[in-house]
Amino acid sequence: MAMTVVEQITQLRSLLEQYNYQYYVLDAPTVPDAEYDRVFHAVKELEDRQPELRRSDSPTQRVGAAPLDGFEQVRHEVRMLSLDNAFNEQDFDSFDTRLKKLLGRDDDIEYACEPKLDGVAVSLLYRNGVLERGATRGDGQVGENITSNVRTIPSIPLKLIGSGYPDVLEVRGEIYMPRSGFEAFNDKARELYEKEFVNPRNAAAGSLRQLDPTVTAKRPLQMCCYSVGLVEGGDLPARHSEILAQLNQWGLRINVDSAVVSGAKACMNYYSRLGERRDQLPMDIDGIVFKVNSIADQQRLGFVSRAPRWAIAHKFPAQEELTTVEGIEFQV
Ligand code: NAD
Repeated sequence: MAMTVVEQITQLRSLLEQYNYQYYVLDAPTVPDAEYDRVFHAVKELEDRQPELRRSDSPTQRVGAAPLDGFEQVRHEVRMLSLDNAFNEQDFDSFDTRLKKLLGRDDDIEYACEPKLDGVAVSLLYRNGVLERGATRGDGQVGENITSNVRTIPSIPLKLIGSGYPDVLEVRGEIYMPRSGFEAFNDKARELYEKEFVNPRNAAAGSLRQLDPTVTAKRPLQMCCYSVGLVEGGDLPARHSEILAQLNQWGLRINVDSAVVSGAKACMNYYSRLGERRDQLPMDIDGIVFKVNSIADQQRLGFVSRAPRWAIAHKFPAQEELTTVEGIEFQV
């Protein structure tokens, strides 16, 4: 007998819960991202078609997963969100058209275009310019306190340089393992018959969530900043790209391949150009993030359940199939 829609969606949701647990909690995915995205999209479509099927605990409404035991918990004062996805040009055009309508304008929107780094989202809290706390995104509201671990990463300043920074400045970005570091790590692990990492994202996540920071210190991790969260006692520029440039002046790393363009067509050009160079970049990227550059417009557009309305991740076509090498356990 054919499954009812309710049975179908229940089954797909529990599959996503299982994938999320393996990916976020165990750092050991069992399916390629493209497969996860396919199931996620199927659930979202069913919910869009029949809104009465929506539930607040559906994976389509939630970010990441709850923090791991073993780490102190950190409550994010400004929620850390995920991103909506565009899988093709048509999805991106619908996004651009929707924003123009919401903003009530028909001229081109200015977008900040940034490579979508495949690592782990983190928050760094600077108080009076001094690094006070580092935390993972967790489920967006509560993350893990990984301060001792982030302090071992050379590209994260323990103290901001220059002046003029807000009293409280929460910087957000991605911690990742560059490909060269990942390969060197696995070469060495093979020599020593130790566990290998399955991919650089997995390597970054496993390295960051170590209870012993001296282990993290030996891992070749990098940080790249792409936004701010809590800001108190000071002002930041009015455009996203200018905020990033300002963070850079205070000593934080930002992505040199980012650009500002106007309109959907220019966004697609940027997407193709970077896509062609994807394999030559020093780190894994899985798409491009497009963000409305005006902060005032971002504020007008606001958020939906798990993602901002003013940004979208345009994924590259799936490149990898999951490399499950027999006999090799994933590193956690
Ligand atoms: P996401 O990775 O699709 O997008 C949001 C994240 O992008 C942010 O949290 C941030 O970490 C990152 N990011 C990178 N560069 C950025 C930039 N320049 N600006 C802003 N953010 C940037 O969302 P997610 O919620 O972290 O993860 C969902 C994705 O993870 C899925 O689409 C899937 O591909 C993958 N996933 C896979 C499995 C699996 O089993 N294979 C399970 C769960 C999730």
